[in-house]
Amino acid sequence: MLYGPRDLRVESAPTPDLRAGDVLVRVSVSGLCGTDYRIWTGDRRVAYPRVMGHEFVGRVAAVGPDATRASPGDRVVVEPNYSCGVCALCAEGNRNLCLARTAVGIDVDGSFAELVRVPERCCWPAPAAASDEDLVLTEPLAVVVRAVNRGAPRAGESAAVVGAGTLGLLGLQVLRGHGCRVLVVSRSPRRFDLATTLGAEATHATGAGALEDAARRFSGREGVDLVVETAGTAEAVTAALALVRPGGRVVLTGLPHEPTAVAFFQVVRREVTLAGSMIYRDEFGEATRLVADGTVRTRPLVTHRFGLDRIGEAFVVHQDPAAIKVAVLAEAA
Ligand SMILES: [Zn+2]
Ligand SMILES: [Zn+2]
Repeated sequence: MLYGPRDLRVESAPTPDLRAGDVLVRVSVSGLCGTDYRIWTGDRRVAYPRVMGHEFVGRVAAVGPDATRASPGDRVVVEPNYSCGVCALCAEGNRNLCLARTAVGIDVDGSFAELVRVPERCCWPAPAAASDEDLVLTEPLAVVVRAVNRGAPRAGESAAVVGAGTLGLLGLQVLRGHGCRVLVVSRSPRRFDLATTLGAEATHATGAGALEDAARRFSGREGVDLVVETAGTAEAVTAALALVRPGGRVVLTGLPHEPTAVAFFQVVRREVTLAGSMIYRDEFGEATRLVADGTVRTRPLVTHRFGLDRIGEAFVVHQDPAAIKVAVLAEAA
């Protein structure tokens, strides 16, 4: 329970009541991400007290009065954002853009708990072929599945992923699944060995020579066909535009919180297609399939595990350069 910036306490709480349309999920494993970290530090304000956590897998423990699909015992991956369902954006299918969207673990209590209440429609079946821990990255994977699909990848194309964090290392594998050759670009070479293990054909550290040259070398032409930006920094957006070829596509899914100088001259002159990609809409099913069929390996990204009783340590370790995904387990690790 977060009572204020860096004031996190482990305590008992009553079991949430189930209203119509809700289910109660017994959490088995949750991932900690940068959003949780920003809430913990107070950079991102929430109404206190709040239970954080939005990347999780578990089992349905109980269902509300009018549940139609979920049954107790179902193993589920939870989509932790739900839209209002009635606004013009929702009505036209843009539910990820709904301005009245509710985010689990931010607007309402989340998964750093034994039990969490979510709407039944947020529950996706967990494929039997994948373990709970394999599926803990489904939420960030759904983010990059959408981003990659918005870039319309074609087999044989050259692609670049900017950023080698969780999203970048997942995005690289999704692009490989589409038959693209992938160049991973990051500020630091720290994760390049892992990127290579996961299928990157080449890696490039920003600062180690011009990005345009690296993109030309890798693509064998004027730049790469498709760039997926996952880092969400001003520098990364600039890098994405330096890598793409004239006529190519850039998809931005990292959220740049700081002001970003974009060379729009280059966007026009090179007729670059620039697309934003916001979380996910219907990508959870595809994301769980990619994990179950082995196209995307998530296990190598889970670097640390803590029991719920040691969640304070999990937040500290999240900032360790060696940490990629820190998992919080309902059972003591
Ligand atoms: Zn997250
Ligand atoms: Zn809406």
